[in-house]
Amino acid sequence: MQQLQVRSENRTLYDHASAAEFNDHRWQDKNSVARFKQLEALLEGLIAPSLLDEIGAGLSKVGMSIRLTPYIMSLIDWRNADTDPIRRQFLPMLSEQEADHPCLAVDSLGERETSPVPSLVHRYPDKVLFLVTSVCPVYCQYCTRSYAVGQDTLLVQKDHVTSARNWEAAFDYIRAHPEIEDIVISGGDVARLKPANIRLLGNTLLEIEHVRRLRFATKALSVQPMKFLSDDDWFQAIVEVVEYGRSMFKDVCVHTHFNHPNEITPLVEQAMRRLHNEGVYVRNQAVLLRGVNDDTDTLIKLFRGLGRMNIHPYYVYLCDMVMGTEHFRVPLSTAQELEKTVRGTTAGFNTPLFVVDAPGGGGKRDVHSAEFQEVEFGISGFRSPAVDPLRMYHYFDPLRSLGQAAREAWKMPGSKDQIMAKLGYQSRTATAVA
Ligand SMILES: *Cc1c(COP(=O)(O)O)cnc(C)c1O
Ligand code: SF4
Repeated sequence: MQQLQVRSENRTLYDHASAAEFNDHRWQDKNSVARFKQLEALLEGLIAPSLLDEIGAGLSKVGMSIRLTPYIMSLIDWRNADTDPIRRQFLPMLSEQEADHPCLAVDSLGERETSPVPSLVHRYPDKVLFLVTSVCPVYCQYCTRSYAVGQDTLLVQKDHVTSARNWEAAFDYIRAHPEIEDIVISGGDVARLKPANIRLLGNTLLEIEHVRRLRFATKALSVQPMKFLSDDDWFQAIVEVVEYGRSMFKDVCVHTHFNHPNEITPLVEQAMRRLHNEGVYVRNQAVLLRGVNDDTDTLIKLFRGLGRMNIHPYYVYLCDMVMGTEHFRVPLSTAQELEKTVRGTTAGFNTPLFVVDAPGGGGKRDVHSAEFQEVEFGISGFRSPAVDPLRMYHYFDPLRSLGQAAREAWKMPGSKDQIMAKLGYQSRTATAVA
């Protein structure tokens, strides 16, 4: 029997703050750590100076800026910061970074190519992704949308995709496309939207007759759960849209993002009790991250913990092939093995689907559905007939998982074309594979 230990925040870093302050979302925003200097000031004397140097050096190399709420800072075990699964998600260390696989890209899913109007991604027939903001309460180092989310870093200059001013074009596009039933409202994070804009988005979209489903995407539940407890106006805006949807027999829910059981705390339970009371359904999308949750025990605890919070584990994604994330990636075979060991340990509906979001825009594919898996160079192929029946989408295992010769081959200039040609792999097939 798995024992679930529930972690509470350790507030020693913020012992000057009262409980009322700490539990206030505004205080959390105001006291978030967004610059290295602030981190230094907080942690001086608490962690080894060499560790701070490691973080400072790591930061100069990555595509994501940093932002951590005091709440998330307090969930990190600073005595063991080098291995802490939460630190690893939000603060890079130079020594853990790895040279990128040559196929890593800034926008690995090709979202910018399937964007018919600014801030909308229309890849699947009946659903769209609506990117309504480019800011989040925290910044995750492995973010898929590092091309647009957060502040510019030395490595990545961001696209500036979204603001309430240019939503009108997206609304018009959705109105003009009756096949669109399902809208993912994401970003960025809807926790950063004003309540008036939550209502504007929700009501406008629900009033389009062919729109049947909305999902609001927010990581706040796991990194700033007090947002659901102290920001009444924002919380009510979400609930109102859910209720408005319900009155029209349409589905409105919340999608969130927990990766590790240490993120499930008593404050998360309070937030979930409030949402559950209002009948707001919540699903979780996790990312499989090396050194964070790439072991059976952690994943089982995560899914059982989410189940007890009435959060439905929906997907586990392989880490996308985004620049600067090589150290987070695991080979496809690891994801397949983990899925096999996890399935059957709890309710089937609380066992998520493990997926690869196929690079180049193939969309989410079951990790067990690869057409082939080549072991030497770590290449797998996925088909995605609903997106493009004539195309094979390839995923590439991290270099660390390959033998010496294959690693060397990948490091040569032009390696991708040469290796793919040598193995006879093409991304375009002449006819649809039956
Ligand atoms: C993930 C995603 C969706 C939603 O997909 P589901 O499998 O229904 O959760 C829609 N559009 C895009 C572009 C996406 O990446
Ligand atoms: S919360 Fe989501 S969008 Fe924001 S940085 Fe993290 S992964 Fe990216």
